[in-house]
Amino acid sequence: MDTLQLLLVALAAGVGSWAWTSMTGWPARRVLRQREQLHWSDVARRIHADRMGMAAVAVFLPADCALAVYLWRHPGVFWILAVGLLSAIGVTLGAWPLKRALEHGSRKERWWVTPLKNPALFYGVLIVAMPRDFGAVTWVLFGGVIGYLIAGQIWPIPISRPFRRLAAPSAEVEALIRDVSEKSGIRVRRAWVVEVPQSTAVALPFSKEIVVTSRIVEILSPAELRAVVAHELEHLRESFALSFVRVLVAYSSLPLLLVKPVCATWGPQGLGLLVLLWIAPRFLFSRWSIRQENKADQTGAREDAAALASALLRLHEDNLVPAVLEQKSSHPDLYDRMIACGVTPDFPRPKPAASHTLAGTVAAGALGVLAMMAVIEWTR
Ligand SMILES: [Zn+2]
Repeated sequence: MDTLQLLLVALAAGVGSWAWTSMTGWPARRVLRQREQLHWSDVARRIHADRMGMAAVAVFLPADCALAVYLWRHPGVFWILAVGLLSAIGVTLGAWPLKRALEHGSRKERWWVTPLKNPALFYGVLIVAMPRDFGAVTWVLFGGVIGYLIAGQIWPIPISRPFRRLAAPSAEVEALIRDVSEKSGIRVRRAWVVEVPQSTAVALPFSKEIVVTSRIVEILSPAELRAVVAHELEHLRESFALSFVRVLVAYSSLPLLLVKPVCATWGPQGLGLLVLLWIAPRFLFSRWSIRQENKADQTGAREDAAALASALLRLHEDNLVPAVLEQKSSHPDLYDRMIACGVTPDFPRPKPAASHTLAGTVAAGALGVLAMMAVIEWTR
């Protein structure tokens, strides 16, 4: 009987998550249907909040469901994970129509990877599975996660290979990257092309590799790609200490994995410290990151300022990322980056795009409330 009830709850979590996610993405899909009549920057501005909201729902809702079933019944880890995973499959299916509408050409990412990649869900399940004391099991679980993440930084390609389609670049792209690398004196150990529908490039500072997406190779001219590669190479020049700080900030939420033993041992004060460790670095880092991006843009502009400006414009248009954002991200706004390259965009500066919607805020807020309920339980 108990099993049947949990099974029904898991199914309800899946269907409910699907419904919630598709509703969140619906207004953006309506805007995309009229995209022919609008300037791309207007489309990007109008869909941004819903996109971000849908991403927040996709990340937080499975953790919400998993934590709620834990608080309700305290079933074993199997059922907590089952409820969370069905919810994660639900959000993946609910997000599908908007993702499809935003993609170009065929879909290259393996669909089943998306529910498995949900960080909040695995965080949630690990937190709940953690013992209440600092015994061997706690350190094995925590150490395992840290070890996996460190390995992911040192050997990013082998670690992400099972989840991504990675290949060596074509001879032309390889030659182009080598050439920019030699000219700038920044060594690249290896270059990769990953097949995803977004157009972007990333530098992997610890392994000294660079990854470009198949889409970016497809849409940029050789001169534009050179400028983008020069920008990414500048990130490879960052010192070990700076790259290390970048990683620490990216993973500043990791101590939260210990919330259960911390609360059981030190009570609410311990929790306060964990939250401070999590939030503070993000605020401090944002400005620093924007400065590093400006520096990388200067390197790209030395390669070819006009090409960098047109590449950035093309990437934003292709990914429908707004030219001006209300909430600053790790990168400066496109509009300012183009002007810094000496190019004035051929459209007026748009109003800043909003980054939040009610649906996303509710999904994130619910996790906060559920987490507080769990913390009260653990501190007792
Ligand atoms: Zn950059």
